[in-house]
Amino acid sequence: MAENDVIANGGYCHCCRTETIFKSSNSWLRDYYICKNCKSIPRQRHLQFILDKYFIGWEDLKLHESSPSNDLISRYCKSYSTSQFFSDVSYGAEVKGVRCENLESLTFADNTFDIFITQDVFEHIFNPNLAASEIMRVLKPGGAHVFTAPKHKGILKSYPRAKLVNGQVVNILDEQFHGNPIGDGRSLVTWDYGDDFECFLFEWTKCPTTTYVTRDRRLGIDGEYLEVFVTRKI
Ligand SMILES: [Zn+2]
Repeated sequence: MAENDVIANGGYCHCCRTETIFKSSNSWLRDYYICKNCKSIPRQRHLQFILDKYFIGWEDLKLHESSPSNDLISRYCKSYSTSQFFSDVSYGAEVKGVRCENLESLTFADNTFDIFITQDVFEHIFNPNLAASEIMRVLKPGGAHVFTAPKHKGILKSYPRAKLVNGQVVNILDEQFHGNPIGDGRSLVTWDYGDDFECFLFEWTKCPTTTYVTRDRRLGIDGEYLEVFVTRKI
């Protein structure tokens, strides 16, 4: 353990599938507790752990990932596809090989995918109700939306922070941004989700959501905001 490390321990990483060292130089484990080998962070390892544990054989399924920030899932999946949202590109069109999709209005046919992944995307959508329902539409029956999004402790009722009116962003609360791998590098937080998040998801999808909470440092899974949500299309 190096002098500036808060924690350092050995374990198995589900992102790079190796025995590795997990270490953090900061007590905010969510963003700093990295795998020495693949640099993944806890929520990424948790999502991949859930895939490995509850979706055995997922590598052979038809999987779509919206707005990935890394190749941690694509490197294992044979039928992997991806898309990003570009505000100035037609939905369904490609830019330099990357398909443009708006989660609120997907261009995929009904019943296309077995698994749909979004990682920390839902807190940046203006109409998550449309996105959740669109994802259910493009999933095959029995398919699953497997995703992460910050669910805040102490917030009883989820609320929007910003909305879109005639194409213009109207802030309801002070602006907050998260890092974004594309565009200008930042993404506006549009919703704060709280205790009723799963109730909203049911309202939006009419399908049940299971929320996974795991703390296991042997898997490098510890820190805040690590929930993985799985909404099954029934
Ligand atoms: Zn790793």
